[in-house]
Order: sequence, then C-alpha cells, then structure tokens
Amino acid sequence: MTDEQYAKQWLRYRRWNRLAIGLFLGFIPFVIFIVSASDYFSTAGKLVPMVAAGWLVAMGYSISRIFFFRCPQCGHIFALASWLYLTNGQKCAHCGLKRYENSGIESASKIH
Ligand SMILES: [Zn+2]
Repeated sequence: MTDEQYAKQWLRYRRWNRLAIGLFLGFIPFVIFIVSASDYFSTAGKLVPMVAAGWLVAMGYSISRIFFFRCPQCGHIFALASWLYLTNGQKCAHCGLKRYENSGIESASKIH
C-alpha cells in the first residue's frame, strides 16, 4: 500500500475522530439551545427528544467508525486485540502499525 493510500485512510479515521469529539462536546450546549428554543416556538418542544436522539445516534455511529476502524496495513480492527481487550489505539493491536504511520499526518500524541 502506498503512503497516499495510508494517508487517505488515516484522514478518514481522523475525520470520524474529530466528528465524534465535536458531537460529544457539543451535545450538552446543543440540548440547552434546543430546549431554550422550544420556549419560543411551541412546536419545537415536540422535536427536542427526536433531535437529541438523532444527535446521540450520530455520535454513536461516529464512535463506532473509530472503534471498528480497520488497520490500513493488515486489515484487522485497529484497536481491538480481541473481543475482551481494547487497546489505547496508539498502534495496531495486530501488526504494530502506529497511528498515522506512513501518512504524513502528525499524531496528536507526538505534539508536546
Ligand atoms: Zn495492523
């Protein structure tokens, strides 16, 4: 696999990772916003649980994309050594490929 293909997969991984973090951090402010908006618009009150549930589904889906990300080198699930053991995700549990290795992407763990 070329460095360009590695980079493409790692960029996809990083996009899902950032989306999951954004959805996680934004959930409480978002709920506060839609609840306060429902005070002004009577019909919005009915949408609050549905919108919040949709937000949680999107967050769960993006987390699952990270959780089940396949290693660009070996094709196994990157952070899952077995069904009972989840690694910290810094390197592949199967082949040892480091996160963002061969992609040109700077890992956040390398930044001091
Ligand atoms: Zn691997």
